Amino acid sequence: MSNKPAARKPKADRVKSAEDALGEQALKILLPRDCKPDVEGLKVNQARNEHAVQSRPTTHCATDKGMKPRLLNMQNKKPHLGGLQIGLFDHIPRWRKNVTVNWVAFADGYETPDDALFAAKAMRRATEEWNALDFGVQFKQVDSLEDANFALGYGGQPASRDRVLAEAYFPTADDISDVIVYKLQFNPQVKHEMHNTFLHELGHVLGLRHEHAEWSGRLFEGGSTTIGTTNPKSVMSYDPEEPPIIRDSDKEGIRKFYALRAGETFGGMEVVLYIPDN
Ligand SMILES: [Zn+2]
Repeated sequence: MSNKPAARKPKADRVKSAEDALGEQALKILLPRDCKPDVEGLKVNQARNEHAVQSRPTTHCATDKGMKPRLLNMQNKKPHLGGLQIGLFDHIPRWRKNVTVNWVAFADGYETPDDALFAAKAMRRATEEWNALDFGVQFKQVDSLEDANFALGYGGQPASRDRVLAEAYFPTADDISDVIVYKLQFNPQVKHEMHNTFLHELGHVLGLRHEHAEWSGRLFEGGSTTIGTTNPKSVMSYDPEEPPIIRDSDKEGIRKFYALRAGETFGGMEVVLYIPDN
């Protein structure tokens, strides 16, 4: 008898079990060659964008939802102005430099097959924008769940969180994580901004917290520390006027962040580096 938790089955075994339980169709993956962003379509989207600003939801992300139960310990923390935020209460999770985070896009589970393709193309475009910064992490779309660090899938209408567009995860040793896009993101008023939402979600995947994580008031999340300069228009902000866009301050901040070394203490937290389990 041992008190040790049972070892987690290898990813390949779990994928096989899921296939057996759900059927192959449920885990069908879109081919990367079919998910190239459509440049003509993007121009139309940008034109539409200008008309949609007023109707944008200003709460768009549930990645930090797990923070709330931990806030009881943080009530005495002094608010400050913000800036790009990193850290997760007791450590700063980040990917090791010069790694690739592989991802897949599910073909099934959406309301229509076109929705799946639309989301995959939006994610592909967002990953290419981050990749172009060349700061030390690349995202790569692959065609096998076993080779992926995250899977993009549809979350439908989340119970009791009707203003949420998407959610992601922070750097982790887990062998596979989800990035979920919700029904609200397919609303015609914001559908064309899906790649912007994904720019923000990929910021979380890279280890960034919300710009407002330490603001006092409704948006307070806590457990983060500032790297880089304050910018209310940061890709990690909730800006009521514009969808998330990678700003110069974000470019500067992500480079500073990815220059930190393993084991280094920054803002009172230790930098912990993970290698994506692709
Ligand atoms: Zn977020």
